[in-house]
Amino acid sequence: GDRGVYNFAAGPATLPLNVLKRAQAELVDYHGSGMSIMEMSHRGKEFDAAIKKAEADLRALLAVPDTHAVLFLQGGATTQFAAVPLNLCAGPSDPADFVVSGSWSDKAFKEAKKFSAASVAWSGKDGKYTALPPFDDIKQNPEARFLHICSNETIHGVEFKDYPEPRNKSGILVADMSSNFCSKTVDVSRFGVIYAGAQKNVGPSGVTIAIVRKDLIGNAQPITPVMLDFKTHADNASLYNTPPCFAIYICGLVFEDLLAQGGLAEVEKKNAYKAGILYDTIDASGGYYICPVEKSVRSLMNVPFTLAKGPDFEKQFIAEAAKEGMVQLKGHRSVGGVRASIYNAMPLAGVEKLVAFMKDFQARNP
Ligand code: PMP
Repeated sequence: GDRGVYNFAAGPATLPLNVLKRAQAELVDYHGSGMSIMEMSHRGKEFDAAIKKAEADLRALLAVPDTHAVLFLQGGATTQFAAVPLNLCAGPSDPADFVVSGSWSDKAFKEAKKFSAASVAWSGKDGKYTALPPFDDIKQNPEARFLHICSNETIHGVEFKDYPEPRNKSGILVADMSSNFCSKTVDVSRFGVIYAGAQKNVGPSGVTIAIVRKDLIGNAQPITPVMLDFKTHADNASLYNTPPCFAIYICGLVFEDLLAQGGLAEVEKKNAYKAGILYDTIDASGGYYICPVEKSVRSLMNVPFTLAKGPDFEKQFIAEAAKEGMVQLKGHRSVGGVRASIYNAMPLAGVEKLVAFMKDFQARNP
């Protein structure tokens, strides 16, 4: 690409070049302040304007209703694995349901067990996390405080295309959207909590965004650390303590860029096209490349595949691709193979180059 490489990393991941250039231009002297935004008070007028604009633009992008608060948090999505049950469950014996569709929802479930009576309502483990259930097969506990899903499993490449209705009496659906946040339109009103680490689609690591229905805020378990209580951050406009200022600022630039592209409906079309040419190449390879994920739930963001010729050829594939400027294609260490992460900021040209390389590699190594 414009920087000599296409970066297919799963996260931290590639960011839009125009955003990086803008940050570079504003870095040393932010808006004539004589300081960078990293060096100034989080309570000063420049940062105040930056975080307010970031929130307003995110609200516009996702059409976040007034019923929901937007929070800029720290500790990664991993911290939300604990924060969600701490905020939504009355105590460790309060039940919660988890759809375990891959490594990340499994981690969320295991952490939630410490602060709730979390149970698995459906697991894709026996199928090696290559599918999602028909929603009627999710064994929901009517007493559960919430139903938790991971909307896109970053390692296994399984993505919800629609969302199950929570059948618990509180009607709360919670989603870890870390790896498909802002990649498509979402009806936020269907969710009690959405959370996402920024470092895939919308910014650098260091900030985690939570969108929380306001009536769910303020009932955290008494043991909840102040930093994990949604109320702390909702009452203080995400400025209770020093926030990750630079990361929030970059997210703001990304939101501006996504709006300028025409919003998430447009972004979604581009993402569907990019993923489409990649999956088509895999499926048209006559079994040379294999994507194990059931077609109807294949991720538009993370495309995992293997080579029928085995791990040695996968190694060669990844090494040759890197030589041609397509980097970070190695699959997660837990599953091996190849994984192309093609978030919002991956240009179509990067995916086209990968597809051409795949065809060429197959022709050279039949
Ligand atoms: N959930 C998902 C779906 C992820 O992809 C990741 C990170 N790869 C996490 C949670 C953990 O996020 P963090 O590293 O921000 O804690």
